[in-house]
Amino acid sequence: DILVAGETLIDWVPERSGPLEDVAGFERRPGGAPANVAVALARLGEPPLFWTRVGADPFGRYLERTLADHEIPDRFVERDPAAKTTLAFVTHDEGGEREFTFYRDGTADTRLEPGRIDDATLSDWEWVHAGGVTLSSGSAREATLDLLERAAAADCTVSFDPNLRSELWPDEETFATVVGEALAHVDICLATGPELAALGYDGDSPTALARAAVERGPVHTAVVTRGAAGAVAVASADAPWGEAAVEHPGFAVETVDTTGAGDAFVAGAIAALRDGDDLEAAITVANAVGARATTAAGGMTALPTRAEVAALLEA
Ligand code: ADP
Repeated sequence: DILVAGETLIDWVPERSGPLEDVAGFERRPGGAPANVAVALARLGEPPLFWTRVGADPFGRYLERTLADHEIPDRFVERDPAAKTTLAFVTHDEGGEREFTFYRDGTADTRLEPGRIDDATLSDWEWVHAGGVTLSSGSAREATLDLLERAAAADCTVSFDPNLRSELWPDEETFATVVGEALAHVDICLATGPELAALGYDGDSPTALARAAVERGPVHTAVVTRGAAGAVAVASADAPWGEAAVEHPGFAVETVDTTGAGDAFVAGAIAALRDGDDLEAAITVANAVGARATTAAGGMTALPTRAEVAALLEA
């Protein structure tokens, strides 16, 4: 089985663009990078277990229902009687880059607790995936670090997406330190170039950054996504798919909304590598899942099925 761990939250997306203080109408969308990855895997036909925590409020009930609608088992979906669900407001700056305003002080997803998943359970699983937002505050940081450490000890494949949201970190140094602790247990890191640079890796190209991550170890495979330009990946001889340096230019599609593309990509990569694809085939599939996810509005609502991905790969 695959276990995904981390936040489920509500993204509020303005009906019209403009500064947050001037926006009156919002659309409610389920989100959170790990939640998107979990649902993306489910859409691809491989529903994972998902360890998350929602508030005892209407938003939490909505998220529970959304996960259930996507056939995600509720075994590790916790409802926190003493906390509310995280809300994120998504606006765009003048350059069109997304900006996030989080209502996330002491909210349910920051309150995951260490030790919830025991070693015997972990040893039954093949793959554990987590991300950087979960490490930014509360007991969820320790809970996630503990999970990754024990997952690595139990010989699970551990994948990780640093997902830098600077709004959630006091400074880049803290991000680099805390995520660095997590990476000590990670096999596969999937990130953007700027995220790897923020983590202190040196390199003047995506491939050089990926190589730097793999050289430091114990990460044996580093994948760098490049938006519409696809992705590159580097693996060391420690990787089950062997030493490799590969790139794929991505798929040209009619992009409507790139929200969740990175999470879709991650799910595509996990599904393909677990199916036994080599690294080059896996980043091709991942690019197809990521590209397809940009062709409709929303993050979780735009995730493709396996058949839709196959159609893009064969086109
Ligand atoms: P993030 O969403 O985490 O910022 P990227 O923007 O690099 O990450 O996108 C992740 C992946 O999604 C890319 O590697 C690519 O496969 C796909 N993707 C993103 N934007 C586009 C696009 N405009 N056209 C086609 N594929 C895209």
